[in-house]
Amino acid sequence: MVAESQPGHIDQIKQTNAGAVYRLIDQLGPVSRIDLSRLAQLAPASITKIVREMLEAHLVQETEIQDPGSRGRPAVGLMVETEAWHYLSLRISRGEINLALRDLSSKLVVEEEQTLALVDDKPFLDRVIEHIDRFFIRHQQKLERLTSIAITLPGIIDTENGIIHRMPFYDDVKDVALGEALESRTGVPVYLQHDISAWTMAEALFGASRGARDVIQVVIDHNVGAGVITDGRLLHAGSSSLVEIGHTQVDPYGKRCYCGNHGCLETIASVESVLELAQVRMKQSMSSMLHQQPLTVEWLCQAALQGDLLAKDIISGVGTHVGRILAIMVNLFNPQKILIGSPFNQAADILFPAISACIRQQSLPAYSKHISVEGTQFLNRGTMTGAALVKDALYNGQLLIKLLQG
Ligand SMILES: [Zn+2]
Repeated sequence: MVAESQPGHIDQIKQTNAGAVYRLIDQLGPVSRIDLSRLAQLAPASITKIVREMLEAHLVQETEIQDPGSRGRPAVGLMVETEAWHYLSLRISRGEINLALRDLSSKLVVEEEQTLALVDDKPFLDRVIEHIDRFFIRHQQKLERLTSIAITLPGIIDTENGIIHRMPFYDDVKDVALGEALESRTGVPVYLQHDISAWTMAEALFGASRGARDVIQVVIDHNVGAGVITDGRLLHAGSSSLVEIGHTQVDPYGKRCYCGNHGCLETIASVESVLELAQVRMKQSMSSMLHQQPLTVEWLCQAALQGDLLAKDIISGVGTHVGRILAIMVNLFNPQKILIGSPFNQAADILFPAISACIRQQSLPAYSKHISVEGTQFLNRGTMTGAALVKDALYNGQLLIKLLQG
């Protein structure tokens, strides 16, 4: 048994080491082999071997580094080579599909937004494939070597096997094996992830939570959910589960939710619910500025910032409801940082203090006193979410090994 499991074990070590070395070169490059050996805690001979393979595969390149203080020969540094490697980053949301080509540095080559009707005679899988095929045809002139496909969407997903079990908005989606279909069509690995989890990864890799080990990211949009990074790792990364704070009951007598329960946070704090509540309360408050323009999230936030009492009360109400659940999460995860991703961030000056006040009052003082509440760097659109999946697959070695093997 030992002999049988050994090759797999060695492959796993090689994959992890290669990923760690690539990560260092990507984040610190140009960096010398000696520094790599020290930072990766690998023997110089191992670094030489890993780097040689990466050079041969054109994943890294050599460059000269001149130490400012020294007059000697410049040292040889290593940098990642990214431009000749592309991937397709795909995002499906309510009625829309975003498609982008990015290079391995995550730089955008081209991005498009297309309509994906919620109901159609053609099956969901066929429609997605058709969009991808047409996108590749339109942009074949720009396409360098395709390395992978990354897809992010809301729903119940089996990330391991690339299966979408169910999706909100798209009722005909039932156990769609999107990963397998695309892998057999293109021959490249396909990475699938829930969009809130992927957005949490994107902020950790490129955005507002870079460098933080423990983060809670809350999304308040059409859906309400969260991503948690604990000790530098995404919670539930490899499974279909999500941090479902949106379906925590905050009002036992509240509205019925699509999940089957009553008064879930999502039925109170989602964009649609908040606008609905505003409509109702406007009838009792004829002096509110909100009557002056058609009611949208933008107008609600603007009115709140201009001091309209009703608008302010509605936004801080969102903060209080979300804050109450966050206070419990703070006691569970003791994060350094809380990120809020929401169109209500337009009134961050009202929303964030309401959230912070709740956390301070309702969680352990030792935990809550150092927490900062901030907005996400990225918005809930575009294809940076997929970029995080590909970066992660390079850093953990999974995709890197495939590229090294050609
Ligand atoms: Zn619910």
